[in-house]
Amino acid sequence: MAADPVALAADLIRCPSVTPAEGGALALVERVLKAAGFTVHRVTFADPGTDPVENLFARIGSGSPHLMFAGHTDVVPAGDEAKWTHAPFASEIAGGVLYGRGAVDMKGAIAAKLAAALDYVAANGGKPKGSLSFLLTGDEEGIAVNGTVKLLKWAAERGEKFDHCILGEPTNPQVLGDMVKIGRRGSQNGTLIVTGTQGHVAYPELADNPVRGIVALIAALNAEPLDAGSQHFGPSNLEFTSIDVGNTTVNLIPAEARARFNIRFNDHHSRAALRALIEARARRAAGEHIRWRIDWEPSNADVFLTAPGPFVEMVSGAIREVTGRTPVLSTTGGTSDARFIKDYCPVIEFGLLSQEMHKVDEHVATADLVALTAIYRRILDRYFA
Ligand SMILES: [Zn+2]
Repeated sequence: MAADPVALAADLIRCPSVTPAEGGALALVERVLKAAGFTVHRVTFADPGTDPVENLFARIGSGSPHLMFAGHTDVVPAGDEAKWTHAPFASEIAGGVLYGRGAVDMKGAIAAKLAAALDYVAANGGKPKGSLSFLLTGDEEGIAVNGTVKLLKWAAERGEKFDHCILGEPTNPQVLGDMVKIGRRGSQNGTLIVTGTQGHVAYPELADNPVRGIVALIAALNAEPLDAGSQHFGPSNLEFTSIDVGNTTVNLIPAEARARFNIRFNDHHSRAALRALIEARARRAAGEHIRWRIDWEPSNADVFLTAPGPFVEMVSGAIREVTGRTPVLSTTGGTSDARFIKDYCPVIEFGLLSQEMHKVDEHVATADLVALTAIYRRILDRYFA
């Protein structure tokens, strides 16, 4: 009997796996995969100052090609549960729609992958013609330090080599089949700091107001685009998110002004080159008079692209056959765990609809769960053909 993705999704939603709680979700996945013949490892990672988080790695088959199904079982909190018309962890189905936290982000997609994998394995004598892995973390919605990044390293140290990965994040803006993500922009945070000399507002000649300087530098950095976009990416963007002086006194010129910003950057830039470019522009605008520096935050979100080719085309073809739609190959949106996976193998993302993620009354059409299962199932047939 084929595994039912709707029942699996409902069972997963009933596990209250709000980051960093496991909530029974990985235990459920472990039971399902073990019964199908997978070797399953539960791995807990911890770091000083962080919550320990449980993760799961499961594999069936041997040799190549090796396809990884990646995802996360943790969910964001429900928020004010009184605002939900269907309780967030009750998995109620009404009018062909399954309600609950994680329905689209991304327990629904995990259920679809499980159902597709079980069906594929059963139809192929209990084993793929190659290797199929599940790499699931409980630390994606949180600070993401005890999850995918460490699990990938753990797997690599065990000798696991992956050829391709499909991450099940919600990717479709309107309907299933709309969009595949083949890359993501990089993200870099920084703080621009201008120092002056504190003084009495009535004697500006005795002070040096950093507000004037920071306004000039912000204007200069906003004035010039970083690039005009590239073949697969939109233009890079620098956005100031706050300007802080912290001065509560009316007659005081402050000593320092700070402005925080974030840059989403495309494949025209490496992180180092991007920082150098911003600093060169600030230096030019500052001239001799403005004393400034930029504090760059450490980041692990580099830009990446899985260039269109046979793998992307195979996935697009499977989506087209099931939904009748040719997905847009996109690099939009925020960062995901794909930023870690790309260091091990080419990764693309395809899952459910993105509109509902993190919302009150998060839900998924049961028909979408069935269709997504059919897409993953087709991908397995073609990948291991
Ligand atoms: Zn997610």
